[in-house]
Amino acid sequence: MSEKAVAVVTGAYRGLGFETCRQLARLGYAVILTARKPKSGEEAANSLKAEGLDVTFHPLDVTQEDSVTALSDFLVAEYGRLDVLVNNAGIFPDPAPWSADSSILCADLDAIRDGFETNTLGPLRLCQSLIPLMEEKGCIVNVSSGMGQLSEMEGCCPGYRLSKTALNAMTRILAEELKGSGVKINAVCPGWVRTEMGGSEAPLSIEEGIKGILWAATLPADGPSGGFFRHGKPIAW
Ligand code: NDP
Repeated sequence: MSEKAVAVVTGAYRGLGFETCRQLARLGYAVILTARKPKSGEEAANSLKAEGLDVTFHPLDVTQEDSVTALSDFLVAEYGRLDVLVNNAGIFPDPAPWSADSSILCADLDAIRDGFETNTLGPLRLCQSLIPLMEEKGCIVNVSSGMGQLSEMEGCCPGYRLSKTALNAMTRILAEELKGSGVKINAVCPGWVRTEMGGSEAPLSIEEGIKGILWAATLPADGPSGGFFRHGKPIAW
């Protein structure tokens, strides 16, 4: 069993998830880098191990119940507990923003279902399965998006927007139910970041984008819970 604090990051073989693994491991966490593509996940974890970091790969498709159960069983057997969960895995199920077919009026309902399955129910499945391993303390980060803010809601991209708004609501429901438990859960928008999802025009580097994720993953015992943050500052729902 590890004496170190243990962190799980979902969808972590590239982008924000990968760099979050690297930085958490540098802070001294035993990090479980998860991905649904085993080869990509193994390679990513090995590249961080080669930097001398404590990073272990475990396969995880956040849309599959048995995959989440297998991760939970692995954590129980190898670590006996969990301290940090970063629900990072996400998809952008819509056509390109503001393209002719990105209107909600012609949205493909199956794409909207896919968005919910990965971006909302995935994190919920992980929370249901892994919060019992948190031993009354821990930090959960739901990587959300400004595109899910009701206060700033615009047109287009309904699959992504609806799934992230629902993720935000889920964050608040869980925070209420976890009050007094020592387990904190917050939603974080990383800003617009240059990743495969964010594209090359985004203003922020991955290192800048993960700062707020790291902040929410490493909150002190008296840190906030049930909030929505960007770069460590509260933003409107
Ligand atoms: P990427 O597309 O680079 O990363 C998304 C990751 O999620 C990939 O590793 C992908 O793997 C994985 N993933 C998708 N579906 C599943 C699944 N079912 N199970 C496990 N893993 C899965 O994008 P980012 O790094 O930018 O995105 C990370 C998070 O940040 C997302 O939640 C995104 O919504 C959020 N975000 C990003 C912004 C940006 O500007 N980049 C802005 C706001 C929020 P695979 O190859 O297997 O699909």
